Amino acid sequence: MSQEEFNKIFLHELSDLYSAEEQIVEELPNMIKAASNEELKEVLKSHLQESKMQIKRLEQIFLLLDAKPSKKVCMGIKGILKEGSNFISEFSKSNSRDAALISAAQKVEHYEIASYGSAYSHADYLGCDREIKNLLNDTLTEEKDANKKLSKLAEGSIFSAGINKLACKS
Ligand code: FE
Ligand code: FE
Ligand code: ZN
Repeated sequence: MSQEEFNKIFLHELSDLYSAEEQIVEELPNMIKAASNEELKEVLKSHLQESKMQIKRLEQIFLLLDAKPSKKVCMGIKGILKEGSNFISEFSKSNSRDAALISAAQKVEHYEIASYGSAYSHADYLGCDREIKNLLNDTLTEEKDANKKLSKLAEGSIFSAGINKLACKS
């Protein structure tokens, strides 16, 4: 495979992420509204702010690469978000809906972790500037942290009952 071809893969992945983040920023306010647990609301709110910053990082990367994102729509995230909103709307009890929300949100995070992980390794292999790799890694770290926070909320700790437990009791 030629370097040019590999570069195309990298740009495709970045464009996909750009579309994914835009869709996520549009959907997160609905997820925040649907959440009842205050901590869950906070995690989603702070991830909304992070996601807006992640879009800016991608724009910076495109600038550094002297490229533009293609108009393609990330169908993966489109499907994950649609499935998530259908799933959440099946539950009217707040604790159950929160548990469903966490599960839906974690699917989004895993898609992003996979995509940013691949984009980072492609950037590394292509010998991209440190700056580009750092931007990708900063976002990758935020996605992993968001996922961990969601797991913690679902599972709880010795100090607090997790949302899963609350959903089971209600
Ligand atoms: Fe993101
Ligand atoms: Fe995609
Ligand atoms: Zn995310």
